[in-house]
Amino acid sequence: MKILVAVKRAVDYNVRVRAKADGSGVDVHNARMSMNPFDEIAVEEAVRLKESGGVSEVVVFSAGVLACQETLRTAMALGADRAILVESEIELEPLAVAKLLKAVCEKERPEIVLCGKQAIDDDANQTGQMLAALLNWPQATFASKVTVTEAGGRRQATVIREIDGGIETIEVALPAVITADLRLNEPRYVTLPNIIKAKKKPLEILTPMSLGVNVLPRLKTLYVSEPPKRATGIRVGSVSELVSYLKTSGVIA
Ligand code: AMP
Repeated sequence: MKILVAVKRAVDYNVRVRAKADGSGVDVHNARMSMNPFDEIAVEEAVRLKESGGVSEVVVFSAGVLACQETLRTAMALGADRAILVESEIELEPLAVAKLLKAVCEKERPEIVLCGKQAIDDDANQTGQMLAALLNWPQATFASKVTVTEAGGRRQATVIREIDGGIETIEVALPAVITADLRLNEPRYVTLPNIIKAKKKPLEILTPMSLGVNVLPRLKTLYVSEPPKRATGIRVGSVSELVSYLKTSGVIA
């Protein structure tokens, strides 16, 4: 069984990004870039499934600029076997990424595609769901536990999902798309020997054109602005003073 994991190169979660002065987007110039945190969890899960037996290969996929190779090397240092980069200078929207993933799935025929539940830069939470729809595969989103079993020659995944009211357990027949939530696992640290080993692992570079996918944007960003600044707080001397302040300022009746 082969697992394909989608990893996105995104602004590091510790970086405080700012809107560009002209409102045309977010300024990521010179910002530190890393693997999207949910994708690191997805890679870890694929590697753990391989370590527990039954998975022959973990292939990692990224779409974007050539520098995404670094992200793919990190994923291979975490334990993935090989990587595919679909190189594009055009900023890719979730639908374009889902179409590229579909084309790669048709070549690679994985039984599970693991994605992060969302990319922390666009917060779209769309790619995995769109991919499942394009492939007509079942999807199990926001997974916090994944178990793969086989019965009567057919494989399925039992997936636990944290939902608003509690915990939901679902079963999906493979092939399926699974998206990783925060509590699925805690990714391992990348070690120096594994970074060195990852440099020798195969990394294939494709283009959207070679996959026959049109990645031209369909959305137009009209304006990006920063959240309104928080008003400065006040210091109160007692609970009763706080309550009367909240009443006079209209926060409570
Ligand atoms: P999004 O729908 O943009 O919130 O992204 C959800 C997930 O789709 C991410 O966590 C990744 O696993 C995958 N993904 C999105 N964009 C890319 C990309 N450019 N390259 C590889 N994977 C991606």
